[in-house]
Amino acid sequence: MVQSSIKVLRNRGYRVTRPRRQVLEVLETAQRPLSPYDIQKLLWGKGKHLDHVTIYRVLDLFCTLNLAHKILSLGGFVRCALGKREGCHRFTVCRNCGAFQEFADKGLCAGESEITQDFGFHAEQHLAESLGLCSECSSPQGDSV
Ligand SMILES: [Zn+2]
Ligand SMILES: [Zn+2]
Ligand SMILES: [Zn+2]
Repeated sequence: MVQSSIKVLRNRGYRVTRPRRQVLEVLETAQRPLSPYDIQKLLWGKGKHLDHVTIYRVLDLFCTLNLAHKILSLGGFVRCALGKREGCHRFTVCRNCGAFQEFADKGLCAGESEITQDFGFHAEQHLAESLGLCSECSSPQGDSV
């Protein structure tokens, strides 16, 4: 996945700098959305140091290129797991543990665009997150203890 992201960067004419590679690697293994502070801390733990401005800039670029997405409800960033899948990328986000799942559905996009067309609005992108509990957090307690 890091390799495919690196390919996207190169194809779009961006250099694969050390900070870009490091942020990619951290996002790659993340189990929940990460804030720039989280990313800095994780890199710090591996003896690598990036300042906030650099991390913000890298995340900004990744979001523009759809290599990463911002999870609006939690404010963190995740790497894109879908690549070029038809339909906008959407998320389920667990409000308890932060587990997330990315998905895309062309039909949802078509439905949303149809609704907004009624206002004379031309939608270019849809952002959507389903907040709730993941399967682990919603299962009855006690079965794993
Ligand atoms: Zn995505
Ligand atoms: Zn959960
Ligand atoms: Zn869409």
